[in-house]
Amino acid sequence: MELTKTVVLKLRETDNSLDKTLEKYAEGMNFASKVVYENKKPLSANKLQKITYKHLREKIGLKSQMSCNVARQVAGAYKTLQKQLKEGKTRWQQIKFKPTNITFSYRRDFSINKKEVSITTLDGRKKYKIANYRYAEKYFDSSWKYLASKLVKQKDDSYYFHLSCWKEMIEEPDITKASNFMGVDVGINYLAVATTTDKKKNRFFSGGEIKNIRNIFSKQREMLQKKGTRSAKRVLKHLSGREKRFMRCVNHVVSKKVVAFAKENKVSVIGLEDLKGIRDRARVRKKQRYRHNSWAFRQLQNFIEYKALEQGIGVVYVDAKYTSQTCSRCGHINKNNRNGLNFLCKTCGCGLNADLNGARNIEHRTRDFRHVLESQGCVVNHPYGNGYCLAEFQAPSEREG
Ligand SMILES: [Zn+2]
Repeated sequence: MELTKTVVLKLRETDNSLDKTLEKYAEGMNFASKVVYENKKPLSANKLQKITYKHLREKIGLKSQMSCNVARQVAGAYKTLQKQLKEGKTRWQQIKFKPTNITFSYRRDFSINKKEVSITTLDGRKKYKIANYRYAEKYFDSSWKYLASKLVKQKDDSYYFHLSCWKEMIEEPDITKASNFMGVDVGINYLAVATTTDKKKNRFFSGGEIKNIRNIFSKQREMLQKKGTRSAKRVLKHLSGREKRFMRCVNHVVSKKVVAFAKENKVSVIGLEDLKGIRDRARVRKKQRYRHNSWAFRQLQNFIEYKALEQGIGVVYVDAKYTSQTCSRCGHINKNNRNGLNFLCKTCGCGLNADLNGARNIEHRTRDFRHVLESQGCVVNHPYGNGYCLAEFQAPSEREG
């Protein structure tokens, strides 16, 4: 199994060469974009390269490799546009690119060690120092390999290098041999609730102040959206950046704790809810919709997944349908079972914390998943991660009906 990761590194003592390179690159992207736009339908990367290469090299002055990257990226962007077009989500339009980021190929355009990155700029190959991050050090041992990576310019003019790394996992977790599972419910009341097959082992990862802070963010957002003025929109953008950075940090801390708890209890597979699936379904209650639309929960799951795989713990995404309405003891499903923070089963009278009940259901489904795998042996890669996902795996009610 392959593990991929993006490591964000701040560059120090950057210079005008980077600005210039970004601007020229964006100019090249916009030129190629115009070509595709006027063609009225997407072009393949090869075709676009053939059409634009000369202009990119001679008129705009990009290096050879960059000119190829421009064609590939622009062709990719229009392919995505086309897909959205077919779904009726957008119209045919000219995609505009800003001079805020650029993709470099490893070896051809950049090389890197833990102290500095060497990048091909329009002024030739240049070296830039990397700000010292302790967490990033491990990505510079020989076990990690590098892929095409991005140079990103922030609004405050600082530069970051988004290094894409991958490595082969030595210990591939074998889910069919696993016996100890853990279900993790991510949510608002608790950031995460974890429960293991041995039910005595539960843990609540409380958000503490975080819920309040997020509420403040969301109130401010609402207010600004109502206002709708230009300056309000600006503040809104700034605010969302702050909230994102804040939640990212929180999610790193929590995911680390969740995986440490799994390791402590010798868990071999962690089950998470497939939130993507539920989001695409109709008829999700408003409160639930907020939960499932929120990128923060997906990010937390992603971080748990990465950290688990690094520890040789497997990850499974299970159907999220009815996890909050199903009784984890008797399996009865009723939307009245849940009453705010508490779960009380209308059939068997089982009462417990609602998030813990959800986590237990996820744990059950993860364990079931193992049996399905054993009997059918069909595993497909999950669309947004390295975990396993079985397409046909469904909630109990659907299996019976
Ligand atoms: Zn019950």
